[in-house]
Amino acid sequence: MNERDSEALAALLALSGYEVVEDEAAADVILLNTCAVREAAEVKAIGKARHLLEHREETPQLKVGILGCMAQNRGRGLLKNLPGLDLIVGTQQIHHIPEMLDQLFAQRDTGKALVELSSEEGSQNAISRHTPGKKPCAFVSIMQGCNMRCAYCIVPKTRGRERCRPLADIVAECRALAASGTREVTLLGQIVTSYGRREMPVVGGKSPFVQLLEAVAAIAGIERIRFTSPHPRGFRRDLAEAFRDIPKLMPAVHLPVQSGSDRILKAMNRPYTAEKYLEIVAMLRDAVPDICISTDAIVGFPGETEEDFRATAELFEAVRFDMAYVFKYSPRPGSPLDAAADDVPEAVKETRCNALLDIMGRHSLARNQSYVGKVEKVLVEGPARRGEGRLMGHNPGARKVVFSGGADLVGKIVPVRIDSATVTTLEGSLQLPLPS
Ligand code: SAH
Ligand code: SF4
Repeated sequence: MNERDSEALAALLALSGYEVVEDEAAADVILLNTCAVREAAEVKAIGKARHLLEHREETPQLKVGILGCMAQNRGRGLLKNLPGLDLIVGTQQIHHIPEMLDQLFAQRDTGKALVELSSEEGSQNAISRHTPGKKPCAFVSIMQGCNMRCAYCIVPKTRGRERCRPLADIVAECRALAASGTREVTLLGQIVTSYGRREMPVVGGKSPFVQLLEAVAAIAGIERIRFTSPHPRGFRRDLAEAFRDIPKLMPAVHLPVQSGSDRILKAMNRPYTAEKYLEIVAMLRDAVPDICISTDAIVGFPGETEEDFRATAELFEAVRFDMAYVFKYSPRPGSPLDAAADDVPEAVKETRCNALLDIMGRHSLARNQSYVGKVEKVLVEGPARRGEGRLMGHNPGARKVVFSGGADLVGKIVPVRIDSATVTTLEGSLQLPLPS
């Protein structure tokens, strides 16, 4: 979501005459778009900003700004840690940054920071521009904010109440992306399964979100659709069947579970049980037997006992996730749960985290090895990070695939025979001749 916000801002700044530079040392403005979901992200952002501010004598004209969730949560308080900061901009004001920068450059160094944290009606519609040029895969923000109150989570505080963009605007954005060469869109929201619930009726048993998926699937040129994240509470049969009935909807779903213990789920204020989660998984596999399923889990949530943790480990064994992000609980001042309640020792969190990653790694490797010898359709995204002449893309199941090929293949969907597999990556060879 932050990546998408940053990209939309870069596109807006370009329209106002600013230019993106590759080299930090050449920049007149450096904006850090921050995350506040875990403490580590904040520590990193503050460290980076401090480093920039401390080296400012070399570049006295440099303006440094902090945007996004940490800016929203800490506001002016950031000036205590980071004196000299020029800009602090909350999550609903990012689109005003071009004007704010103009103001900063005009005001001839009064040394006063501009701080803008207010909420703004309709601000969800401002995250809509893309930088020009062809990109095979694009993110599209369909909504902002969240109305849940998960005990550990800072997001409702930093991103505000749930606000959806009109379906027609989202479709228009996807259509324009298709026209400029985008083949895959990932629809983004904190709980995409809630999309349009207040604004749109259910039609023929289909929720507004499924209606949106169908509308995006009707766009010529868009070949692949993904989304993140759905919530177990709103995951109904119509969405499971959409994976079967909409060929462009790729067979991979990221469905955060957080915990396999009903007691902990309740304490987290997550309104479902492990059994309900398993029912959704069964429903998905009933619709698409080999669908790839990934998740988020938190270990060391306050009060998590060995037994609670075992329930999560058992759920991991039962589901056989293809991929999982496992997080150690990080107390968030400003979240519903009192920060003082962090009572699971760090070493225990570490052990539990590694245990879940081990289970996941086993299942992920087994799935990846099952592709060896098969030909997978890969959307080529660009050069692989390592290796000359190597390309990188993803198969329908969202596994990363690396293979050799020419740069002219970027943006195409090509057949690749999978030769070997690790936990995270499939290696393969391009199957020639390419279909016309
Ligand atoms: N809206 C999504 C989650 C967004 S936050 C959902 O409800 O599924 C992304 C992930 O960060 C969460 O799924 C959760 O696993 C993790 N997370 C959020 N707050 C956290 C905290 N305080 N400590 C550790 N992990 C956290
Ligand atoms: Fe946070 Fe829960 Fe909302 Fe997800 S659903 S953003 S975890 S409050």
